[in-house]
Amino acid sequence: MAIINKKICLVGDFGVGKTSLIRRFVDAQFSDQYLSTVGVKISKKQVDFPANTTAKVPGVNLVIWDLEGHTKFKAIAPSYLQGSSGAIIVADLTRDETIERLGEHIKLFQSVNAHGSMIIALNKVDLVEPEKLDALVKLSEVHSATVLQIYVTSAKTGQDVDNMFLRIAEKIV
Ligand code: GDP
Repeated sequence: MAIINKKICLVGDFGVGKTSLIRRFVDAQFSDQYLSTVGVKISKKQVDFPANTTAKVPGVNLVIWDLEGHTKFKAIAPSYLQGSSGAIIVADLTRDETIERLGEHIKLFQSVNAHGSMIIALNKVDLVEPEKLDALVKLSEVHSATVLQIYVTSAKTGQDVDNMFLRIAEKIV
């Protein structure tokens, strides 16, 4: 059976870790070195579903779109988001304002893909004191009904990164 392609994109403020999450998932790598990507970068990774999954196909090719931070996002958003089956909306747990802006990114994605699936990634958990985590997660829970799930991730340690991509992959096939 031919493997189908599905587009997803990563959305969120500058520096929240979108590129790092993709690198962690696609290449199993993390780099502390700051490398701002230019324009749009498209990565591909085949996801094979575990035997116990409810998915009706053996796997899917995720085509993952990543946008360079300095690009005027609002201007090109429609063409960037067009045709996405899903999105990972990313915030940085060390910057509350990026959590507060999750709603704007969600709305923008929904305006282009009314039926797309969304997941929230609260990233950089390795930098957060454990006793502060609950309050930060609560901030994002106003979106619980809108998104599939909220994940607490680290592109540095890999925490929940693969699970998160697997979850959205299973949902969109
Ligand atoms: P983007 O602009 O959203 O694509 O963000 P980047 O992936 O370029 O990451 C911005 C900065 O945060 C870089 O210096 C990364 O090394 C760092 N970073 C990203 N994710 C994590 C993480 O989970 N933990 C830590 N400690 N640093 C991270």
